[in-house]
Amino acid sequence: MTRTEKTARVLDRLREAIPAPETELQFRSEFELLVAVILSAQCTDKRVNLVTPALFEAYPDAAAMAEAEADEIFEYIRSVSYPNNKAKALAKTARMLRDEYGGEVPREHKELTTLAGVGRKTANVVVAVAFGEAAIAVDTHVFRVANRIGLVKDQPTPLAVEKGLRRVIPREDWGEAHHLLILHGRYTCEARAPKCERCPLTDLCDYYAALQKLPDPLSGLDPKRGRYYSKTAGRYFDEPATKTDRYGTEQIADPWTGSMNVFDARTGRTTRKVKDYRIG
Ligand code: SF4
Repeated sequence: MTRTEKTARVLDRLREAIPAPETELQFRSEFELLVAVILSAQCTDKRVNLVTPALFEAYPDAAAMAEAEADEIFEYIRSVSYPNNKAKALAKTARMLRDEYGGEVPREHKELTTLAGVGRKTANVVVAVAFGEAAIAVDTHVFRVANRIGLVKDQPTPLAVEKGLRRVIPREDWGEAHHLLILHGRYTCEARAPKCERCPLTDLCDYYAALQKLPDPLSGLDPKRGRYYSKTAGRYFDEPATKTDRYGTEQIADPWTGSMNVFDARTGRTTRKVKDYRIG
């Protein structure tokens, strides 16, 4: 199966599992969407939705927000992450919109990225959601899910993931795919503990396949003899060596042979880790 075919199957399954693939941010205008997306950087949509009703009532458009100082905006958004920086970015962006774009949110990706607090990902979301343009915004969820499933192959940056996804997803599906992958990452393929047991993608997922190849736990280990047990060396030890495997993941190794076939003596479980993908 090619990567394009696999991606098509993944998206079909996600379409069945996620009937309404759209942003969870609440907004009523392009300006409100832009503000909400700026606020959502490193923050949950749920948290952003708690602060935006009062913020938008106070500043319903760019002209109104452009009159505000950053510390006034701060009072409305203090419970989101990085409120100081975001308040400054919103004040500056509102003034730019008023002074350079007639109070409107520009449609062009390039122009959007000149605004304070607007990077490539934010601009992609705005052009896709507000203006229906083809764009795939890669946030932390899309980055992790695309790499884990294997829609892209070990891509190290959001931009590389975006380019990889653009190659395997038809252009007309970019916007929908962005939301499907975000929602899948947010509610099923979570960063710390992916819920593989209720995921519809197990037979298509590289990460799941790698998890299945991990050795079964050993029974009968004696933790009094050492924190770890090397099956290769047949010995216990407390001070592990480390080794980077061929996937770039740092593994615990035994200090004699360098073998990574090491088990936690208390639980009997392997110490081997499958490469994970997380950003900020
Ligand atoms: S099988 Fe597990 S790791 Fe793979 S996409 Fe589903 S939840 Fe994520």
